[in-house]
Amino acid sequence: MAFTLSGDDACQITHPSPIPNPYWVAFSPAAAKLIGLELNNAGLPSDSSWLEVLAGNSLATTYQQFPRPISTAYSGHQFGVWAGQLGDGRAILLGEMNGQELQLKGAGKTMYSRMGDGRAVLRSSIREFLCSEAMHALGIPTTRALAIVGSELPVRRETMETAAVCTRLAPSFLRIGHFEHYASLQNVVRLKELADLLIKDHYPECQTNTEPYLELFKRICERNAMLVAQWQAVGFCHGVLNSDNISALGLTMDYGPFGFLDQFEIDHICNHSDQGGRYAYHRQPQIMHWNMACLASGFLPLLEPTHDEQKAQSLLREVLETFPVTYAQAWQSLFRQKLGFTTEQEGDIRLIERLLQAMHDSKVDFTYFFRQLSGVRQDQVVQQISLRDHFVDRNGIDQWFTDYLTRLKAESSQDHPRKIAMDLINPKYILRNHLAQVAIDKAKHHDFSEITTLLEILSKPYDEQSAHERYAMPPPPDLEKVEVSCSS
Ligand code: AMP
Ligand code: MG
Ligand code: MG
Repeated sequence: MAFTLSGDDACQITHPSPIPNPYWVAFSPAAAKLIGLELNNAGLPSDSSWLEVLAGNSLATTYQQFPRPISTAYSGHQFGVWAGQLGDGRAILLGEMNGQELQLKGAGKTMYSRMGDGRAVLRSSIREFLCSEAMHALGIPTTRALAIVGSELPVRRETMETAAVCTRLAPSFLRIGHFEHYASLQNVVRLKELADLLIKDHYPECQTNTEPYLELFKRICERNAMLVAQWQAVGFCHGVLNSDNISALGLTMDYGPFGFLDQFEIDHICNHSDQGGRYAYHRQPQIMHWNMACLASGFLPLLEPTHDEQKAQSLLREVLETFPVTYAQAWQSLFRQKLGFTTEQEGDIRLIERLLQAMHDSKVDFTYFFRQLSGVRQDQVVQQISLRDHFVDRNGIDQWFTDYLTRLKAESSQDHPRKIAMDLINPKYILRNHLAQVAIDKAKHHDFSEITTLLEILSKPYDEQSAHERYAMPPPPDLEKVEVSCSS
């Protein structure tokens, strides 16, 4: 069930504001399947009235009505500082279909728009659309993207751009910020409603627990710990890990100035607006942990009826302390798999860390290296492994490869099955910034073909796609630094 707290000024009926002459920019048939939409031969909804609905111009198709569109308030910490009330400043929840909430992003002002215009530009909508669907195909929990509808409506950012509405799907768009909101208002009734709703619809396994709220807190922490481990394993940087951008379901959400690592730099900052590097690649795990501590503020009042304050605090702290452990286990397991190990052996973590250090020192392309690694054969002489050419310190990497081959032999690894397993965890195709930029530049001239091409390629990120080799390559040197900021 959609998030509807009745009679609350933090959950407001909000009608989308229409955009003139809407047109399809992008559409995801795979996401459409989730909500059971029937499509025509062009891969668009057979019922053409969906265009107006997903533009925010109408609330009904021939078969489906959305009588109660809402926007919600949430609060949160932005860049480590309490920001007070934020909310769905440009997101409107239309309703639910097949257990998926439909949310329009960029459909005009809401009660929570503050100084904003409630709009999203075409550029950032394309990035969110492609990355949502790419992350899903990588096997990483995420909100989905159904469609982008465009319009010539002008939107002012640093320059004049045009508006777009991106429709997102998720079983729930509840965030850590929703808990922080009611915690800051000391509204225990609403906190309890939020927690009960999450348990009923998304964490039913908590119901039978003697401490359902503590268990819910634990599960939310667990899911987000696993999520951030998956990000690290594919080199994904979220860009703005403010507590209002963190899902209560452990989904990747609110794609803004995100970026995948090209060259491996452990302290890579993908968001041009993040000057201090708070959300740099290597800080993501500890920041997610920090966000879970923010969430704990919402759970404290829920535990207090059964425990005194000190006890409630220590119970929550105990759960928080498990976060780094859960994260480390997930990270180690994923990186072992990335290296093709099927067993756990002493020295594995050191071996992984040595590799990452060498990749960092030589700025080796993260995705390309791991994908190629599956091609290494155990009978190879290390000096003949072509990947060594990507490293400045050849002797160092030769020693690493020698130790790697010894480690493979220690578990009697076989080249062929190992390659198959490694290619299922090390993607060949990711949404590199320079690829997204080509799609955006073309879309500005009303050519949306590159969005479709990328959507297709990125929906099979682990497959060999011989016709699309160039999409797997690191960016050419002149395109390495596509800058992305919070402007969207
Ligand atoms: P973000 O940094 O994208 O997570 O956004 C932070 C807050 O600003 C959220 O409450 C957003 O809803 C709001 N916001 C961002 N852009 C706009 C906009 N163009 N109009 C209104 N609100 C916005
Ligand atoms: Mg946000
Ligand atoms: Mg955003």
